Amino acid sequence: MREERRPPQAEALEVAPGILRIQLEISLPGLGHVNCYAMADDQGITLIDPGLPGPRAWKDLTGRLAAADLPVERVHTVVVTHSHPDHFGQAGRLHEDYGARVVTHRHFRTFFDPDEEPDEITTDDIGVDRPTNATVARVGGRDTASSKAMGRAPWNGPLPWGESTSGGHSFGGGRRGPGRPPLVRRLQYRAMRKVGGRMGAVPTPTHRVDDADRLELGGRSWVSMYTPGHTNDHLCLFDPEAGILISGDHVLPTITPHISGIGAIVDPLAEFFQSLERVGELDGVSSVLPAHGLEFADLGGRAADIIRHHQERLQLLRDASADFGWATVPQYSTRLFKERSLGQMADSETYAHLEHLRLTGHAEVRDDGEHLLYLVS
Ligand SMILES: [Zn+2]
Ligand SMILES: [Zn+2]
Repeated sequence: MREERRPPQAEALEVAPGILRIQLEISLPGLGHVNCYAMADDQGITLIDPGLPGPRAWKDLTGRLAAADLPVERVHTVVVTHSHPDHFGQAGRLHEDYGARVVTHRHFRTFFDPDEEPDEITTDDIGVDRPTNATVARVGGRDTASSKAMGRAPWNGPLPWGESTSGGHSFGGGRRGPGRPPLVRRLQYRAMRKVGGRMGAVPTPTHRVDDADRLELGGRSWVSMYTPGHTNDHLCLFDPEAGILISGDHVLPTITPHISGIGAIVDPLAEFFQSLERVGELDGVSSVLPAHGLEFADLGGRAADIIRHHQERLQLLRDASADFGWATVPQYSTRLFKERSLGQMADSETYAHLEHLRLTGHAEVRDDGEHLLYLVS
């Protein structure tokens, strides 16, 4: 069994000096736990990725914190690596109940109930708990709470490659009209609601950081690293002095994160490659702490493996195109995914790969009026 899939370990474990790994229960496709990292300083406790939303996950988190002698009321900061519910889950409640700061990347956006039109996050919303200069200084970097409001939700409108859920389609992912979110997103929500309970605890960040901001947390001086690809708001934390990288879902030990073609990024695969190269070139990393699975040392090797994995998939698409000629996204999916994995999640990832080929001049696309057809050269 892959290590990311294993059920949570009962005991908290010190994986680096002063950094405890607390494994929380989740049950999502391919994942058996999420790692919440905890570290203390003289002000209290910082948590990174506090698990899923919902009362059951809350009990799990607080129970495990108590068992590790970390009183939940001492949590002063929660860092959320990216906007997936197994990572941001209890951040909102920790803020509401204990006043914890919620730190995310500037682009952080949350997934709302698909039947509601999401509100845009405005400066005023963030300003409700605007920190004093002193607390900003403690988190380091500048106050990015006044970052520009986020763009529109990426899931408005039909699937861009033509498997329409609301009629018609937009070409190349550019135009998006109003409408229900695509089925893939609705199914994800349904799954999340089932595991996570009510989606009531979506956090509003109190601190939005940029790339290369300093965060003084847990008695260490972390540097934030913006690492888009898996999502457009992915953040890693790097302690250059100790050579520790908290890698979120960006670099996992044995699995690769989902790369979605539906979203705000034009070429998510290119962004992912770039972010992998960047962390792979970091000097002196001795320990990588991922959000799923166990810690590992060879960051450069693992980042290169993941890049190679996707390059192999690009080659599979070239081979497929040699056989198929012009073909649709779901047709190409059959060459990248096993039959049991086929569906809109798979298509979304295939679409990201085909668009990467197109945007780098290695594929052509045409619209037959119903579907996008790709030819890879
Ligand atoms: Zn994720
Ligand atoms: Zn994850």
